[in-house]
Order: sequence, then structure tokens, then C-alpha cells
Amino acid sequence: MPALRAACQPRAAAYNRAVPDTTELHRLLHRHFGFHEFLEGQEPVIEAIVGGQDALVIMPTGGGKSLCYQLPAMFLDGITVVVSPLIALMKDQVDSMVEKNIPATFINSSLSQSEMDDRIARMKHGEYRLLYVAPERFKSERFVQALAPLSIALFAIDEAHCISQWGHDFRPDYLRLKWALKDLGQPQVAALTATATPEVRDDIIEQLALGKFGRQPPQVFVSGFARHNLTLAVTHTANKAEKLERILDAIRTLKTGIVYCATRKNVEKVYEHLVEKRASAIYYHGGMSEDQRTKAQDKFMGGKCPVAVATNAFGMGVDRADLRFVLHYDIPGSVEAYYQEAGRAGRDGEPARCELLFNYADVRTQEFFIEGANPTREIIASLHQALLRLCKRGPIEMPMSEIAEHVKAAKNDMAVGSALYLLERANFIARDYRQGSRTYTTRLIEPVKSLDGLAIDFERLDAKHERDQAKLRRMIDYVDHHGCRHGYILDYFGETDAPQHCSACDNCGGAPVSHRRAARQRTKVEVKSADQPLQVSANEKKVLLQKALSCVARMDGRFGLGRITLVLVGSRSKEVFDSQLDELSTYGLLKEFGYDFTLELLRRLGAAGCIEVSGDEYPKASLTELGHEVMRAKKLLDIELPPFEKPKPAARKAATAAAAAEAEAPYDVVTFEALRQWRRDVAAKMGIPAFHVYHDTTLKELSRQKPHSEVALLEVRGIGSAKARQFGAETLAIIRGAS
Ligand code: ADP
Repeated sequence: MPALRAACQPRAAAYNRAVPDTTELHRLLHRHFGFHEFLEGQEPVIEAIVGGQDALVIMPTGGGKSLCYQLPAMFLDGITVVVSPLIALMKDQVDSMVEKNIPATFINSSLSQSEMDDRIARMKHGEYRLLYVAPERFKSERFVQALAPLSIALFAIDEAHCISQWGHDFRPDYLRLKWALKDLGQPQVAALTATATPEVRDDIIEQLALGKFGRQPPQVFVSGFARHNLTLAVTHTANKAEKLERILDAIRTLKTGIVYCATRKNVEKVYEHLVEKRASAIYYHGGMSEDQRTKAQDKFMGGKCPVAVATNAFGMGVDRADLRFVLHYDIPGSVEAYYQEAGRAGRDGEPARCELLFNYADVRTQEFFIEGANPTREIIASLHQALLRLCKRGPIEMPMSEIAEHVKAAKNDMAVGSALYLLERANFIARDYRQGSRTYTTRLIEPVKSLDGLAIDFERLDAKHERDQAKLRRMIDYVDHHGCRHGYILDYFGETDAPQHCSACDNCGGAPVSHRRAARQRTKVEVKSADQPLQVSANEKKVLLQKALSCVARMDGRFGLGRITLVLVGSRSKEVFDSQLDELSTYGLLKEFGYDFTLELLRRLGAAGCIEVSGDEYPKASLTELGHEVMRAKKLLDIELPPFEKPKPAARKAATAAAAAEAEAPYDVVTFEALRQWRRDVAAKMGIPAFHVYHDTTLKELSRQKPHSEVALLEVRGIGSAKARQFGAETLAIIRGAS
């Protein structure tokens, strides 16, 4: 489309807009999305985007990437185009925007041409702020021409790793996007993904020309990969029997989880062993029929079965939050793959264990996969010659294993499969599947005699082979790593402040008690000298314990230690915001001490008999009688505090000052009491805890501000649109009545 390209000038001029301050961003967050706080990493991304910078955003799944472009879309001048490959989810995404009164629409292959034309016409009239499109739309010249005259403020590309051939999910349609950007006058770009190694990151920046065409240099954001509630461990096992024993041990002690295996055969072997030992499990791999897989997945996801044994095919849609362990029976091929799978543990924020059962012999399986995915030139040449011979007289109906017998250099059928795919992509052969046939039909498109006459980029293939090997080496380095495992992983993903030490990996000494035996079996783990316990005065210690216990009390025995810890440290995580736990008065009380210290403190309070944890699948913590007495300072408890490294003085000062300011602000006691009485009645009627209606801090804020309209009500911290809809009218009536 050269004419179109020439007609569009880069839009560099539009990029120096005023950035709204943090109060304004919070107001938009609250008004349009009903959230009180940004999740970790969202705010700086949004600031950069509304400030006109190209951005590459790397956050794990569930990290809240969508808001990073949805909120700017409310502010920016022009439409935000969102490229997303997940057509099935597009309608839901748009529906949820529309529900929030955000004008959004989508265009994908599910629409008729007249529906598309109608939406494009509406877009021209400025009716939408967000347009979701599938990448393949940009194949259509008509579509690109329809977009070109629009004022595009931002081009947000979801799953941006699909543009890179180094990534695990390359999609050729994504390559088209750089041309589309050119045709659209090089608008500002935000590329978002959950997985991106440094190579993939560089590739995305280069392919999408981020920061080019007169725009400011791109900003790369990596955040949210830290998962403090996961204990990471590697156990060296001498044989398969030891691995199976570890798995049974985990099932006995931790109950719910996934065992990942590298091959279908291993999945079935492990499953059979578990069944023999009377453990309840499902198994899942790509060799099962779709129906079998759906049944197995539903059984596990629906909570009817506590354990799944699976290959990496068990991935998409596995969002069961209460998994207490993910064990790897075989080493995966990369740290990315490992962390993605291990990260399925503990989604509810409660402690969970991720253990890799390792034996050096297992590396061979991954090497075999790499050989299979990266056929050598020799194999491709040999297959090329074989196909010229085999297909000389016309199409052949031959399974891959049989074709492989004609390829001299091949030791690995998988490599022949990959080579077939390459020759197909180079338009040398075509492969079709006829219904009822036992296998593919292969035919020559053009009998090109020399391999050099085919469009196969051998340099690129070699580079990919090397990268796959390097990824496996980094995974083996993880196994052999003697330092902090969390630190290693965060460093791998490029997070800047990766820790040197944690209390939640085997190397830093965080293995749970029930796994001591395994820890003894390990040969290479360094023994570290214990850190100094926190030294404070007797009174400070008393207050510290009271704070921790009061949070346990506040959470009404409904959550486990992990979630209580998140509340105490003021976590901005989804688990906290979703349950509105940030509205508790104990939220952030131990912020200055951090997650590891606080969780350990709660564990010690448990060991001292102040906290009781019950329930197997969903362990819940509550105060014992002793806990109540210590909380009310009726009894003194002398326990050793966990080790602690002092925070920077500035952070501590700011936290204390903010807490003091909040505690001091006056409020109207009569209104507060009226609201409290009303809240008690509502909570009793609905059978929910009072803080689920409003927390005390919200009641105080209401009694300070005394809003008289729904709009004013929405300005109050702790009240989003859902709350306003549910309780708004009654709240306003109580406030009016009390004034
Ligand atoms: P990702 O695209 O990174 O996988 P999403 O954008 O789908 O994640 O967000 C995951 C969930 O987090 C969604 O349910 C979303 O509504 C919620 N979420 C996003 N931002 C916030 C926030 N600031 N506070 C609370 N929840 C949020």
C-alpha cells in the first residue's frame, strides 16, 4: 500500500502532552474502574503512556496489563487501538468496558462486513475510545485504509511476544503490524506481554520500532514477577522411586497441586503409581481425546480431584487458586517455562511449594526436544531429496514415521516433522489432511532440485537452535544455583531489584518443616549462618505482636497466613484488592517489615500457640484464646523475632507520617455511629462480615466528608461503583438523617 504510506506523516508532533498527576490518575482509576489503588507496576507504566512515551510492559498473567492502556484511553486525545490475538475473549473484554460506561468496540472475523462497516463509521464519528482488533485484520487493505484517517492516540499490542520468532508463540500475523503502524502514521505504541526474555524484548523493540520516528526512547517496564508466597526448591533425586516418594510426600502434606512431567509416558507412569498408592488424581496430556481432556480438566478445576499429573499441555485456563504445590518430575526446557508452570501454585496468595525433582539424566529429554525442534541442514537436505523421490509420481499418503525411514541423517522423528514443516513453509511441499484418511497427504508444489533454491533461512535456524540450548543451560544453572532462587528468577526476567536473600527458597533456608528429609538428601546446599533476629525493646515487641495478631482477628478466620501477611504489609496485589482487604484498619500495619519477616512472625506466633490454622485445602488462620490475650496485652509473650534487615530510614519515616496523619484527621462521631449501626444491621441481614459492607476507615471518611450525592460518594476512599450501586442510596440516607 505505498500510496497510503506516503500520505501519512509520522505523528511525532503529538507527543509532548502534560502528564496528569498521581491524584488525577487515582481519580480516573476510581471513577472508571472502581479500584482504589494501582496494582504493582501499573502507575509508572500509565504515567509513561499518557506522557507520550512508547512502552514495553512485561507483567505476569493476571498482573493487570489491560488497565495500562485502558486508563490512558480515557485520557488520550483519539482512539486507542488494541491488538489482541484472543478473539474468544475480545467480546468479554469489550462488554466489561461497556459495563463501566467506557465506549469500546471490537472488529474481528466473527462480524459480517456490514457490521464492520457500521463500527468503522461510528469510529469516524468519535463514538469509541477503544477498538479491539485481531492481528489478522491488518491483512485487509480496506481495513487499514478505513483506520488511517482516524486520530489514533495509542496502538496497544497485547501478547507482543508473538512478534518475535525467538518467543515460544510466534505468529506471522504480528509481523504485519509494523507495516500497519507505518500506514497509520506511526502512532505511539504500547507493547504488552507476560513472557519476554531479554532477546525477545530486544526483538519487540526493534520490530515495532519503539521510540523511533521522532518519539522519545521507549521505556521498558518489568514488574510483578515476585511471588513471595512461593517456596522454591530443587531436590536432587537418585532415581525415579525417590521422585515418586517425594510426590506422595507432597500430596500427603500439602494435598492440592500439579505434578508436571516432560513426556506423555511419564505422565501416565506417575499417574499409575499414584493410583496404586490410592492417591486421587487426574492426568492430562496432548495425546488424549478432546473429550477426555475436558473431563479431566473439569474434574480438577471443579475441585473434585486434588491432584493433576500433566505435561505442559495443561496450561491455558488453569487458574485454580488454591494449589499448594507444583512439582516438576522432569526439568523443563527454560526458566520461563518453569516459572510459568510453577507460578500456578498459590494464586490465592497463601504459601505454596514449587519443587523441581532433578536428576542430570533428565536433561537428555530436553536435549532430545531441542534436536527435534531444530533439524540440522543435513536432515533437511536428506528429507528434501527423499521427498523428490517419493513424490515423483504424485502425492503420497504416508505417516511421518514412515517418511523418516527415508531420511538417513535422522535419529529423531520429531526433527523430521519439524523439517517437513519448514519445507511446507518454503512452498516446496503441501500437506493436506483428508477426512477419513489415516494420515496426511504430501505432494510437491514445485520440484526444486537444490535446497539453496528454497526460502529457508539457515542462519536464523542455527541462531534459534543456539538460543534454545542457551535457555536450557540457564535452566540447569537454576538447578545448580547456590544463591537465592527467587533472586535468580527475577534477575532472569530483568527485574531490577532482585533479592540476594529470601526466606522462601531452599538455598536461603526456607524449606517447610515437612520437607526436612528431602533437604538432608540434597548434597550441594550451602549452610548459611543464621541472620540476627530483630532487636527491639520489650514494649516495641509487645506492640508488634499485637499488630500482627489484630490483623488475624480482623480477618475473621476466613483466610490463611499468606493472605494475612499480604494485608499486614499493605500489598497492592489482586488477591487483596479483590476481597477489599485493603479497607481493613490493619492493612499496611507492618509495611516496613516486608513479606518474609511478617510471614515468619505469624508462623512463630502459630508455633507459640497464638494462632490456629485449620482446613486442609483452604487453610484458614484464627486466634486462639492465648492469641486473644496477647493481643489485648493481658499476657506477655516472649518469642524470638525473625531475622530482619533494617529498611532505609526515609521509607520508615514516610510510612509513619502517613499513618499518623490518617489517625489524626477528625470526623463526625454522630454520623460515624449512625453508619456503624446501619452497617451492623446490613451485614447481619446479608450474613456477611461487617467489613464487607464498609470498613471503619471508609465509615470515618464518610463521616468526615458527608457526601450528599452519588458522585460525591464515589470520591470517598473505599467506595467504588459496585459499592455505590449496592449501598449508595442507603448510605446517603443515613448521612442525611444524622446531619
Ligand atoms: P493481565 O492482562 O495482565 O493478565 P488483566 O488486565 O486481565 O491482567 O487483570 C487481571 C485482573 O486484575 C482483572 O480482573 C482486573 O480487573 C484486575 N485489576 C486490574 N487492575 C486492578 C487494580 N488496580 N486493582 C484491583 N484489580 C485490578
